[in-house]
Amino acid sequence: MWRYSLSCLLGMIFLAFVPAGCAKDESTLSARYKDYNIVLVSIDTLRADHLGCYGYLKPTPTIDALANTSFLFESMFTTSSTTLPAHASLMTSLYPKDCRNGYRVRDSVTTVAEVLGKNGYLCLGFVSALPLDERFNLDQGFDYYDADFSGSRGSIHLKDNTWFAHKFQVFDRNAEETTNKVLATLKKRTISQPCFLWVHYYDPHLPYLPPSTFYDPTKVTRNSFPYYFNPTPSDLQSLHELYDGEIQFVDQQLKKLIDGLKELDAFTNTIVVIVADHGENLYEHDGYLDHSQVVYDTVMRIPCLLHLPGLRAKRIGELVSIIDIMPTVLDLVGIASSGVEGRSLITLLEKEKPDPLRTYVTCETNDFGVKEEEQAIAVRTKLMKYIYNNWNVGKNLFYALAEDPHEKNPRSALPGSRAQELTSLFDTWRKRYKSGNIATPLALDRETQEALKSLGYLQ
Ligand SMILES: [Zn+2]
Repeated sequence: MWRYSLSCLLGMIFLAFVPAGCAKDESTLSARYKDYNIVLVSIDTLRADHLGCYGYLKPTPTIDALANTSFLFESMFTTSSTTLPAHASLMTSLYPKDCRNGYRVRDSVTTVAEVLGKNGYLCLGFVSALPLDERFNLDQGFDYYDADFSGSRGSIHLKDNTWFAHKFQVFDRNAEETTNKVLATLKKRTISQPCFLWVHYYDPHLPYLPPSTFYDPTKVTRNSFPYYFNPTPSDLQSLHELYDGEIQFVDQQLKKLIDGLKELDAFTNTIVVIVADHGENLYEHDGYLDHSQVVYDTVMRIPCLLHLPGLRAKRIGELVSIIDIMPTVLDLVGIASSGVEGRSLITLLEKEKPDPLRTYVTCETNDFGVKEEEQAIAVRTKLMKYIYNNWNVGKNLFYALAEDPHEKNPRSALPGSRAQELTSLFDTWRKRYKSGNIATPLALDRETQEALKSLGYLQ
């Protein structure tokens, strides 16, 4: 059984009478959820603007319903366009720095699971793709970490078991397989302490092959797409139908997960965070399909919902980063953060008109083998954006987002001193940024390199 303490019950009763965003003082929410369970769901490659609650035409019933009782961050941005570095930021509240897909996060880095574990939490993690398996060391602090894809159908098959000499024949498992594993594991365990549950879903990632009931086949004329391509309207229709179908599938499985937690009495006393690691470009810039090599808002902007029992929904437009999630959750359960680069967002939750916490956010490319001088890096304010080293070395671009929100008109400069303001922010951030390191390369054999190339992880 999940822990359902008297203090939690009293907290829930009190919270039922607290209007959303009407805090009596600065610390109304800090520690208010002490010993509550925490459920963190990270959905790979999920664009915010393909969810109903973010304005998309097709509804996503489970996520939209959760948004009706959650804080919804309209301007949340990831720090990295690839899976492991972005999740490293999520789980450590650090910028990805020298982390790349396929690197090993250092033992010296402190994860949110390690912090929660020291404070009495049982930490359970379930991931759905190889970039997050144990050898990359994001399992630090978890009492149970499930990256076992044996028996999974998988959407990517490994012909020679060569992806980092992995023992499984598949690269991933789908949302149904992961959800079943989570619920079966929880049902078998007797849990007498607060629980941190991390569930990672991978389905919206390439290849886009949703179950047949989640898309309209009359709208699909092809189901494979090159990384670099000039799509026709028909190609784009197929692409969106299939990508959205994967999202619909995850949404259905998320309902199953939430219903399963409710059956275990583990939802009413639970903080829930739904977030993505990065988005997907979908050919909207540079004729490029994927996410790993670009930092446009198609990839950089991510959805984020925070459900706090007893509080009503609120949309928050202030700039925030994926690195802010860990200190926020720890603040809510009454644990101080140390050594983190993110900031607690509690004042944004409490105040009707809060002061901005951030003037800018950043995102970078960290694919396997990308050298520092080859990285594209975005610095983004509410109204402007600078992309350093975009796509090809030496291509620096500016965007005036108020008049060009979809980044269709790159400029070599901005009026007045605005371009200089952005480059100054970039220089200041990078100077500080270079001081740290969080990961080290793993040795790669030739076969593994070939497998990475075939999967698009290595150029
Ligand atoms: Zn990812």
